[in-house]
Amino acid sequence: MRGLSEKVAAIAPSATIEISNAAKRMAQEGADVISLSIGEPDFDTPLHIKDACIDALRRGETHYAPSTGIPALTAAIAEKVARENAVPANPDEVIVTCGAKDAIYEAMEAVLNPGDEALILDPAWVSYEPCVELAGAVARHHPLSTETFQVDDTLLEAVGSRTKMIVVNSPSNPSGAVLDAASLRLVADICRDHDLYALSDEIYEKLVYGKEHVSLASLDGMAERTITINGFSKAYAMTGWRIGYAVAPRPILRQMEKVQQHTISHPTTFAMFGALAALRGSQDCVEAMRREFERRRDYLIPALHDLGYATAPADGAFYAYVQVDGDDMAIARSWLHDAHVAVTPGTAFYTPGWLRLSYATAMENLEKAVERIARV
Ligand code: PLP
Repeated sequence: MRGLSEKVAAIAPSATIEISNAAKRMAQEGADVISLSIGEPDFDTPLHIKDACIDALRRGETHYAPSTGIPALTAAIAEKVARENAVPANPDEVIVTCGAKDAIYEAMEAVLNPGDEALILDPAWVSYEPCVELAGAVARHHPLSTETFQVDDTLLEAVGSRTKMIVVNSPSNPSGAVLDAASLRLVADICRDHDLYALSDEIYEKLVYGKEHVSLASLDGMAERTITINGFSKAYAMTGWRIGYAVAPRPILRQMEKVQQHTISHPTTFAMFGALAALRGSQDCVEAMRREFERRRDYLIPALHDLGYATAPADGAFYAYVQVDGDDMAIARSWLHDAHVAVTPGTAFYTPGWLRLSYATAMENLEKAVERIARV
């Protein structure tokens, strides 16, 4: 048989797979494994959102929709980003996608050519690099300070003649850091001075604790060069619905629309009505979930400090990023086998020597996990 795609073959499998497969195997064999490796809210989607989707299904909203999404939703998203994010947008600068992940992939396809480079700030979420590579471009990594997890002048040194895009993610998965005003200003200055695009993944924007989320596209001169990525998975506990979106200048949006037209067409029509209800309805559910995450964070972070671990500033998202002495893969393996606690090694996020612990799980699981970690 002839060889398969070299481009896809070259993409590295996720470093999280070994540990998560081992955790699943142990759980299947009856071990009481506590999983702190979860990347999704443990809450159910709020009822009014489900009801809106069910109503749409009953009404017969079961047909093809416009390729950028149902008009009511693109309009609601344009209003939302103007109102909450200070990002002025027309509905035709919005595309609704199958999750934020799909929006990221389409953005890379829309902007990058073979040989172009995208700068990724480490620690970084696992799918940026593969999306860059699927677009035929090259991912370059730039480490953030592991003291502050903010951007500093060294980012400028990482920009080369082939750099075309900077990828930022605030609040960050995995570090939980929220980029401050100075960091965002630095990124914006570099993008403007070097004529770069920015991809700003703001999927965790609603999950901040005592910090303010600021959209990169709201900074001077940035709306015209930024693709803002967001979605419903984390804020509204809608991971399985697969609804995300991007807001971008019209030329980029038009390119993304072509990718979408010839691949997924658009996300599921009746699911988009659920997302519309999420945006148009009361936001109390978002705040209630945020408060519960904050309560867990306020328990977990000091408990880890009491055990002697240093952590990244856990100002957003739902992850504790914990510094460990030695090989993070080996330590994650030993926590799993000796303490039955599953965590994600920092190697998966291009930062060996760290572990990511998700607090998107019940408080009693966190308490049990801390007791077990203390014993190993
Ligand atoms: N971006 C980040 C930083 C994430 O952590 C995730 C999900 O884990 C996504 C994007 C993808 O979200 P979605 O479920 O909307 O595709």
